[in-house]
Amino acid sequence: MAETGRRRISILGSTGSIGVNTLDVVNQLGTREAFDVVAVTGNANVALLAEQARTSGAKLAVTADEKCYAALKEALAGTDIEVAAGREALIEAASRDADVVMAAIVGTAGLAPTLAAAKRGADIALANKECLVSAGELFVKAVAEGGGRLIPVDSEHSAIFQCLEDNQHHAVERIVLTASGGPFRTWSREQMAGVTADVARAHPNWSMGLKISIGSASMFNKALEMIEAKHLFNVAPEQIEVIVHPQSVIHSMVGYRDGSVLAQLGCPDMRTAIGYALTYPERPQLNVERLDFAKLARLDFEAPDEVRFPALRLARTALERGGVQGAVMNAAEEISFHAFCEGRIGFLQMADIAEQVMDDMVGYGAAASMDDVFAADAEARRRAGELIAQKEMAA
Ligand code: NAD
Ligand code: MG
Repeated sequence: MAETGRRRISILGSTGSIGVNTLDVVNQLGTREAFDVVAVTGNANVALLAEQARTSGAKLAVTADEKCYAALKEALAGTDIEVAAGREALIEAASRDADVVMAAIVGTAGLAPTLAAAKRGADIALANKECLVSAGELFVKAVAEGGGRLIPVDSEHSAIFQCLEDNQHHAVERIVLTASGGPFRTWSREQMAGVTADVARAHPNWSMGLKISIGSASMFNKALEMIEAKHLFNVAPEQIEVIVHPQSVIHSMVGYRDGSVLAQLGCPDMRTAIGYALTYPERPQLNVERLDFAKLARLDFEAPDEVRFPALRLARTALERGGVQGAVMNAAEEISFHAFCEGRIGFLQMADIAEQVMDDMVGYGAAASMDDVFAADAEARRRAGELIAQKEMAA
């Protein structure tokens, strides 16, 4: 904590869906009173990044894309905001003195910068679930050794974190992750086979970035969240359940050994989880929509279908196998997600590719270091790329 009680914050991935919501929360809490913005980072959206840097009073703006350096420099000409570009600059920005770092880069690109922030001892508000899926225990250990706290931003994990606050870990029987079921909740595999990315990205409840929206349609997002839950809450794979809950009002639940179940509810708005993570344990006033139970009238639940949504089965497999299977699943999914968006493979082939790469790499043991994680990640990407090329040839 800064001595004045103000907190210094860096936002990695500020131009994305979580990043924009984070700046809204920071703004609502009063930038000039509660938070000093150290760094904002983005990729190719230079105009938004520059505007965010100006309005938030950030000291540093970084684009991950070196080709965007000149444009960012020009957009911030005449200010005293420092400008930098590239992967190393991103890691350097993450290592700057901040009390809390919002990790909201999408995909494995977020791992190295988030690790750098963790090692320096910042509190990590973690949206980038890929860090935990890929690096698991090593990531948790890096945060612990750095001395900062790891606070989930993912709505399900924020819910569980809130339901666990009583320090009753020994009495936890199960974690119940809710899933909206996405836009294809009631669709057959035949119907899903021919969809394009534009159709798949239309989420019924949440407005989010492209990858997580597609991941909600395929339920790969829930698959990543199962592995995320294991590492965050140190539970056994069989303690993690998924239930489809189309209204996305119950954000997740914790079941205790006496039969009691605690749930956290709210409107589907990430700002509640973001505000909670940034200010934990304060719960300051936030201007977000309130739940109206009379209007809501009902909450529905249904068992997930692992045949139509094999990603859930793959997450179980990854959890059971352990080792680097999480990193492998995550990397193969990321590559096949890009191929699906480019129209190179079909919607259902994303899971086929992830499964095949996981099976092919089953002999890889546990990661002793981050180098092992990055090596497994790279190898899984290479193999997924090969499979995609084969499928294209066959099509
Ligand atoms: P997004 O695509 O909207 O934004 C991603 C951010 O990362 C942008 O700022 C982008 O510029 C930056 N970025 C992209 N590629 C990069 C690269 N190679 N190097 C550096 N920066 C890069 O994504 P999002 O929906 O905001 O999701 C961010 C993370 O939060 C993901 O891990 C996602 O799973 C997680 N998450 C998002 C939501 C949500 O509501 N959007 C909810 C829960 C968890
Ligand atoms: Mg989530």
